[in-house]
Amino acid sequence: TDPVNLADRVRADFPILGTGLDDGTPLSYLDNAATTQKPAQVLEAVMRYYQTANSNVGRSVHAYSMRASDAYESARRTVQGFLNAEDAQQIVFTKGTTESINTVALAYESVLTEGDEVVITGMEHHSNLLPWRRLCERTGSTLRVVPLQPAGGVTLEAFRDSLSERTRLVAVAHVSNVLGTVNPVQEMIAEAHRRGVPVLVDGAQAVAHRPVDVQALDADYYCFSGHKMYAPMGIGVLYGKAEHLERLQPALTGGGVARGVSWAGEIEYLPVPNRLEAGTPNIGGAVGLAAAATYLGDLGFDQVVAHDQGLTHRLRDSLAGAGNVRVLGDRHEGAIVTFAVEGLHPYDVGNHLSAAGVMVRTGVHCAIPMADHLGLVGTVRASVGVYNTEDEIDRLVDAIGTVQPGFWTKEHPDERFL
Ligand code: PMP
Repeated sequence: TDPVNLADRVRADFPILGTGLDDGTPLSYLDNAATTQKPAQVLEAVMRYYQTANSNVGRSVHAYSMRASDAYESARRTVQGFLNAEDAQQIVFTKGTTESINTVALAYESVLTEGDEVVITGMEHHSNLLPWRRLCERTGSTLRVVPLQPAGGVTLEAFRDSLSERTRLVAVAHVSNVLGTVNPVQEMIAEAHRRGVPVLVDGAQAVAHRPVDVQALDADYYCFSGHKMYAPMGIGVLYGKAEHLERLQPALTGGGVARGVSWAGEIEYLPVPNRLEAGTPNIGGAVGLAAAATYLGDLGFDQVVAHDQGLTHRLRDSLAGAGNVRVLGDRHEGAIVTFAVEGLHPYDVGNHLSAAGVMVRTGVHCAIPMADHLGLVGTVRASVGVYNTEDEIDRLVDAIGTVQPGFWTKEHPDERFL
């Protein structure tokens, strides 16, 4: 598994990688944790769907509606296989991780009572923090936060200490979007289950970088976004064990969720997943997500992991040798390297890198408590995808060598943006 090989094999699949800045500087796209680029195989699957099958699902008997329904349900089965879910009906399509988590959090408003507890960790993205915060505010429950180690990880001991008799739900990132830290979710789930507590895993940063088997993890809920795994924007997944999904009150209601509605009687809801997919779904998006899952499956996660690790370690080691760079985190098992450049505001670093054609994320990465923990105004995050090359990593490192203090460092050194 030569890491260079994978990028060589796949680069031509991604049309955008042939583009560059207006001055001709080629694109080095290293912001994959924010969103990935889309291969032709995905773009073509979406296009083919719209050109040959587009219609609404589950609403008509006509042939094209059947075609659209077949495409949508076939995508569900592909995602079921991708996650090794027990049944396709446990795959709920949402618009992304945020909607998936909110779907569960809103449903739990009718489950939690005063004094109950929800446990998250100190590294969570706001999408896996604010929905729980609001849930706790509305129900009089307490949000317990597993404290972080100085380098940004959690220990199983600290996690265990955060569980109590009143814990009703645990929500935890599989992989941190700030540092790329991989949490021991399997052990955390086992620990929570010993106390009968269900666990929701935020898999947004995991699914493109490691094989996820929800049954092996024994996850009760698993959430992710398609756009971070080479699929289009606006499609994502809420996986849940049947016994949990069936009990969730729909956060949204409307078309497609009920089979019986009368003025006098109760609403008779359809079974999951339909009950949790109110309104016209993103069928083209689901088709694109399935194509992306197939694409990743064809590459093989052995190759993807070796490739990610090769580039991540090369970047970490080069930056650590640069002198004025502080590489954050002590484990680099993900596809993310986050760092701070001594005396420079991350925005000046990001602007300079962008001018060199290198796209990275700068700021607090939608995880303000995590930035506070690190004691930084923000950081620079480089994150790799299947198409990145060693040459692109080196281009980033070279550009870091020539950053100068600019507007942000001079005028707004403490200014923080998302
Ligand atoms: N959780 C994590 C760990 C993430 O990295 C992200 C995206 N940055 C999200 C949740 C939210 O994903 P989305 O915006 O696609 O809903």
